[in-house]
Amino acid sequence: MSAVMESVGFAPVAKPVDAMLQSVRALADGPLAELADDIDRRGIYPKGILQRLGELGAFGAHMAAGGEAPDFGAAIQAITEVSRVCGATGFMVWCHDVCGVYMEQSGNPALMGAALANHVAGHTLGATGMSNPMKTFAGIETLLLKAREVPGGFIVNGALPWVSNLGPDHYFGAVAVVEGDAPREVMFIVHCDGQGVELRNCPSFSAMEGTNTYAVRMTDHFVAADKMIADPVRPFIGRIRAAFILLQCGMGLGVAQGAIDSMWQVERQLGHVNEFLEDRPDELQAELDALTERTMRLAQTPYANHKEFLIDVLDARAHASELSLRAAQSALLHQGARGYLMSSAVQRRVRESHFVAIVTPAIKHLRKEIARLSAAEMPA
Ligand SMILES: Cc1cc2nc3c(=O)[nH]c(=O)nc-3n(C[C@H](O)[C@H](O)[C@H](O)COP(=O)(O)OP(=O)(O)OC[C@H]3O[C@@H](n4cnc5c(N)ncnc54)[C@H](O)[C@@H]3O)c2cc1C
Repeated sequence: MSAVMESVGFAPVAKPVDAMLQSVRALADGPLAELADDIDRRGIYPKGILQRLGELGAFGAHMAAGGEAPDFGAAIQAITEVSRVCGATGFMVWCHDVCGVYMEQSGNPALMGAALANHVAGHTLGATGMSNPMKTFAGIETLLLKAREVPGGFIVNGALPWVSNLGPDHYFGAVAVVEGDAPREVMFIVHCDGQGVELRNCPSFSAMEGTNTYAVRMTDHFVAADKMIADPVRPFIGRIRAAFILLQCGMGLGVAQGAIDSMWQVERQLGHVNEFLEDRPDELQAELDALTERTMRLAQTPYANHKEFLIDVLDARAHASELSLRAAQSALLHQGARGYLMSSAVQRRVRESHFVAIVTPAIKHLRKEIARLSAAEMPA
């Protein structure tokens, strides 16, 4: 049984999920731990690790494909196990997992079947360019991609500033506004090697360097019917929104767990003075366990979309961000100078926790949505 599951006192789960989580944990503690510093500081993209995660079944738990019932809790736990060791890789697992949700929920046969099977197995790698649409639907931005309807599909133009987990043979979900008298949005898959698609390097980030994050420019890029995820988009987003956000909780839970683990590492030597700090590891662990339990409960109905449920999901995601920020900061205070070394996972985790807090939906975005939904009389 995984430490995450042990720590929240869950009864042993069905064997295949348990085995999957154990092997994900072994991969994270072994090869991924060795690579984490290179991912963070040298921008090494861990493609082999991602492919191995696919082989281990980490990308399939939340999919109905393959005869198994979808298990979002297991998918979140897999992201947690990875993020505990490397937040950047945990984020890329989320990118890939949520792209799988787009494909499966599209109902488009061309994105399901063999394409989805290859995605779930990690033979192909996917991503998500949904920050801009998510912020647009929350009234924070306007859509950056514009589409024109043509026979057989759409012509798309525009640029997205940041899309992670990309490569020449990768693909991602995106949304464009179809301009005209009655504008509407369409959602589709973009292949990075598609005609009119160009990846541009981003400036250096303070963390997440190995996430293969690019700006993507599309110039008269043709989207055919076999790439369509949703038309119109808003009902589709309404259906998958909670699943999108819940899967992200794994990043926050994992970064927080990694931080707590590093506090215990110095407890024997420094406990006599660390006891004067706030956010001690036992307190944080109790809070993390309660949040994990709450997340697992919410994950039992990932496609529910009534208002109270959505507020609960948004609040759990905000709590995961806040807890990872607090835990990462406290870990640094607990570890002192050794945690301040550039090679230390403790200071890396501080920067990763900042990312958990600003990636869409950022804490401010979550709070805005909670306020909007709480005030709304209409259903979400
Ligand atoms: C490392 C990294 C990886 C990311 N990966 C993805 C991904 O895979 N998919 C995805 O969809 N999104 C991705 N994002 C975007 C991310 O989800 C957020 O949307 C982004 O961090 C900003 O969110 P925010 O809500 O804090 O907005 P804010 O930063 O508060 O505001 C965003 C607005 O500020 C402006 N702005 C921000 N930065 C600049 C700048 N440098 N120059 C000019 N104007 C600017 C823009 O107009 C934008 O509308 C990534 C971001 C980072 C840093």
